[in-house]
Amino acid sequence: MSSSAPSHPTHPRRLILATRNPHKVTELQAILTDAGLDLELVGADAYPDIPDVKETGVTFAENALLKARTLAVATGIPAVADDSGLCVDVLGGAPGIFSARWAGRHGDDKANLDLLLAQLSDIDAEHRGAHFACAAALASPFGTEHVAEGRLHGTLRHAPSGTGGFGYDPILQPDGDSRTCAELTPQAKNAISHRGKAFRALAPAVRELLG
Ligand code: IMP
Repeated sequence: MSSSAPSHPTHPRRLILATRNPHKVTELQAILTDAGLDLELVGADAYPDIPDVKETGVTFAENALLKARTLAVATGIPAVADDSGLCVDVLGGAPGIFSARWAGRHGDDKANLDLLLAQLSDIDAEHRGAHFACAAALASPFGTEHVAEGRLHGTLRHAPSGTGGFGYDPILQPDGDSRTCAELTPQAKNAISHRGKAFRALAPAVRELLG
């Protein structure tokens, strides 16, 4: 993996990930390598002149495709992107695509989590079902597009537990486990996560596109 600008933009095994977050690049590199793909994943920060894409879609899949397509067309290199969030049964699937800005300010994980807990404070465990959802998209500069989706089902705790992960991890307890996602190692979470499932499902399309 490299975070510097590519020296040869038509490298057949280079893939750009539509994120400026180096942790996501590392996480996805591990997922794709485990899926048997030998490729160089480059974060979008290697292309500082390309503006961030406005997430105008109304589904995870639409937003993931928007990001991948824009980056592939702008760079001439195949791109992958994901869009994800938490869907709560009793809220009809919300926060959903609004997960990152549920409390009003984009990316304020603590405020988002606190607001959600307050909204659900009177709801008993049996009605606290929820899932993380992820859409992973692949786009080539020539118009080839694929989307794959993954989910991680569980129950929402009444209080946060654990220090790992990010976002809503401290309150989602995966089905069949007694820990929250924030109490899992990154490897254990990747193995069952919505993002892991979505990108593993996308891997054959990536392999086919990159040759
Ligand atoms: P994005 O896909 O990076 O835009 O993530 C959207 C939001 O969904 C994040 O800010 C988190 O609030 C939430 N989210 C997505 N995936 C996870 C996860 O694996 N753990 C915890 N929160 C997540």
